[in-house]
Amino acid sequence: MAIERTLSIIKPDGVKKNAIGNILNRFEKAGLRIKAMKLVQLSMAEAQGFYAVHKARPFFGELCEFMASGPVVISVLEGENAINKNRELMGATDPAKADAGTIRKDLANSIGENTVHGSDGADTAKTEIAYFFAETELVN
Ligand code: ADP
Ligand code: MG
Repeated sequence: MAIERTLSIIKPDGVKKNAIGNILNRFEKAGLRIKAMKLVQLSMAEAQGFYAVHKARPFFGELCEFMASGPVVISVLEGENAINKNRELMGATDPAKADAGTIRKDLANSIGENTVHGSDGADTAKTEIAYFFAETELVN
């Protein structure tokens, strides 16, 4: 299997719950390595740019307001099959439908405030990593 990189965001609800360590521990236990990381609060413009693909969706305004509502932890994870591995650790978008033991099942409140973001494919991973990190900010 290929070594991949993916973008992870611990959303404002995850940071507010003091669950940063809990979530990072799950990534590390699954064999994913952190190649870049920052704790920041997104502006509305940054949130809107990041989620531009969803701008026609009815929840776009609420999603961007939520993402800009408090600090988030943005990281680049690397490992075998990292994109799908991270999606499996996250669980389904709606925590009510997420499998037992996933981050969203264990920690998320609702389909909107669902604790984590993870890239959904190789192309989006590349674009999303470049949206938040310069090449020089990734360690080798
Ligand atoms: P995922 O984060 O699992 O890849 P999507 O890409 O479909 O899910 O949606 C992006 C984000 O938009 C979700 O993580 C969630 O925060 C929000 N969202 C998705 N669907 C809804 C919905 N029906 N109502 C409110 N927010 C939603
Ligand atoms: Mg998505």
